[in-house]
Amino acid sequence: MADYLLNFAKSRGIACHEDDAGKQGGTEAGNIIFTIGDGGDTLFLSHMDTARSTASVKPVLREDRITSDGQTVLGVDNRVGISTLLTAVDIISKADLPHLGFTVVFTICEESNLAGSRYLHANTAIKRGYAFDSSYRPGAFIIKAPGAKYFTVEVNGKASHSGIAPEEGVNALQIAARAVGSLPLGRIDDNTTMNIGPFHSDAATNVVPPKVELMGEIRSGSNARVEEIEKLVLRIFSQSTAGTEASFDYSSEWDFQPYEIAEDAPVRKHLISCLKNLDINIQPKASFGGSDANVLNAKGIPTINLGVGAQRPHSNDEFILYDDLMNTTKIALELMQNEN
Ligand SMILES: [Zn+2]
Repeated sequence: MADYLLNFAKSRGIACHEDDAGKQGGTEAGNIIFTIGDGGDTLFLSHMDTARSTASVKPVLREDRITSDGQTVLGVDNRVGISTLLTAVDIISKADLPHLGFTVVFTICEESNLAGSRYLHANTAIKRGYAFDSSYRPGAFIIKAPGAKYFTVEVNGKASHSGIAPEEGVNALQIAARAVGSLPLGRIDDNTTMNIGPFHSDAATNVVPPKVELMGEIRSGSNARVEEIEKLVLRIFSQSTAGTEASFDYSSEWDFQPYEIAEDAPVRKHLISCLKNLDINIQPKASFGGSDANVLNAKGIPTINLGVGAQRPHSNDEFILYDDLMNTTKIALELMQNEN
């Protein structure tokens, strides 16, 4: 993907380079960055990775849409963003249309650890960003997204032969399971969710499990609410280990921060004026997912994630309507050319 983008830029005389985000993100490629004119103050972004492999994808062109043959993902998330941005850049460069300077970034690792946007060193002139990466249809855009914190809990008990001396063991698995059973998992309130994914013990069946590790996440539109739920998690593990010989270690890290784009933010006003020019229905939305836009907003670059029409993302039924490809390309062109 990265090679394709580098060749695309070279064959059109577009200034481009690959940064070193790959070294830190642990991937072969880094972010690919196109600099149009002086790079301007606006950043356009989409991600190169897909949630599942597209190595054997067979695109099927139907009457009104493109799908895969049903055996793999099509890769609409986020190839729709990439193809519409490339088309807009291509039209501008070939037709020599008037445009402002701007920067296009194709990131790595959006689906895994957001390493692309995390390790991106954006030019200090960049004042706003547009990510082309929401599954909403063109005209819809994300003005509010939650933050998420990862956490890991390690419960330590004591190993012992489960048949010969169970009394001498401290069963970390059972203590951890009791705590997990008390956690309010799922949707906690309108704005907050919690989940536990991995939960394991390596003990053999004849050993009282001495150690258990589990990992989860807390997601909310409010940082304060995340911290509040985190305190509850700590309290529940303290209670379930209290009075036993077990102990626990807890660690957590922000995966991404929440954001909200105000109505009078220049990034939002510019988008709205472009959508009006195109006569596309304006639909601000809240999202429950995290994306590169969260990372850029946390870095102080107000960024909106735009609907590109990449529907049923991550499933084998992914599809994109030709109409949506067209409208997303028009939006990209308008944002790139419209001065305000
Ligand atoms: Zn995506």
